Amino acid sequence: MSYTEEDILKALMQVEDPDLHKDIVTLGMVRNLKLTETMVSFSVFLTTPACPMKEVIENACRTAIHHFVKMDLEIKIEMTSDVTSRKGDKSILPGVRNIIAVASGKGGVGKSTVSANLAAYLAGTGATVGLLDADIYGPSIPTMFGISGPVEMIESVGRKLMLPVEKNGIKLFSIGLLSRPDEAIVWRGPMVSSAIKQFVNDVHWGELDYLIIDMPPGTGDVQITISQMIPLNGVVIITTPQDVAIADARKAMAMFRMPAINVKILGVIENMSYFSPPDQPNLKYKIFGEGGAEKLCTEFNTDLLGSLPINAELCEASDNGSTTSGSYVNNLFSEITANLARKVSISNSLVI
Ligand code: ADP
Repeated sequence: MSYTEEDILKALMQVEDPDLHKDIVTLGMVRNLKLTETMVSFSVFLTTPACPMKEVIENACRTAIHHFVKMDLEIKIEMTSDVTSRKGDKSILPGVRNIIAVASGKGGVGKSTVSANLAAYLAGTGATVGLLDADIYGPSIPTMFGISGPVEMIESVGRKLMLPVEKNGIKLFSIGLLSRPDEAIVWRGPMVSSAIKQFVNDVHWGELDYLIIDMPPGTGDVQITISQMIPLNGVVIITTPQDVAIADARKAMAMFRMPAINVKILGVIENMSYFSPPDQPNLKYKIFGEGGAEKLCTEFNTDLLGSLPINAELCEASDNGSTTSGSYVNNLFSEITANLARKVSISNSLVI
């Protein structure tokens, strides 16, 4: 043959993962390499199916092989993924590769709406996804997904476990599945910890690429319990632009940064950032003020993962048991989800 496997690998060593800053061969992303005289085929295993750099990397592979090996070689690339995993304690939720908490300083800022959509968009990329509604004081995931109890039980390794409800390809679990919708649940300190423990240990989550945890708003017991008990990759903060919301988000971020809690802040998502009239999508009215979320990100040295508009379709969708809304918002959510998945992959590669 006029070229060798080594020639191909050398060429592919010119292709760098833009986030991990190493070449894709060294990172072990190139696998299943097969050669014939006229064709080369291989798989590229990305660190997440939501990788925003998919096309860039694929094009760079083609260019490198044509340039360094053979101009007329036919190239077949399978772009696939092998989701990287959180580091640290794997004794809790061993089958779950990444656990991301979604938190806010105050209620009503769209934390549950964003959690549900992040889960839906990650699942849409082909990832296996679970969503745990830990907002025990106001569980809204059952309404948002149109699901209800009773929860089914299964026996696994001699233990009785609760089965999450599957909807739209997402495994869902919520305290709301254990009570009637009109039933008020009064939670007291120690009960909270044991309920959270149960959601984590007694739910049959199985293998998941991502588990999203919709946290209760604020900086109370539940947030602290979850942060200390569950080995989180990190937390995403949801805020709206108003000064009051920003001030509360700042308190939540400061709590996650406390040494006893020490949860990485993966980024901030600003919800209800602006309003665009449906017939003038380029016009942005910043009704609730502007710049607050960016300032928070600078203060805490983290990234703004994206901004979402006030959008009637999004509101209607999340209130009516659906997570799909208009195409404009869809694009924004895809982008935000990709930004988050990317942050998770980068942080998995950094932690030793
Ligand atoms: P939280 O979990 O922070 O309490 P929710 O996700 O329950 O907030 O959202 C509160 C209300 O605001 C819901 O009725 C939801 O549909 C609506 N909502 C959330 N985000 C938006 C948005 N970007 N545009 C319009 N309505 C929204």
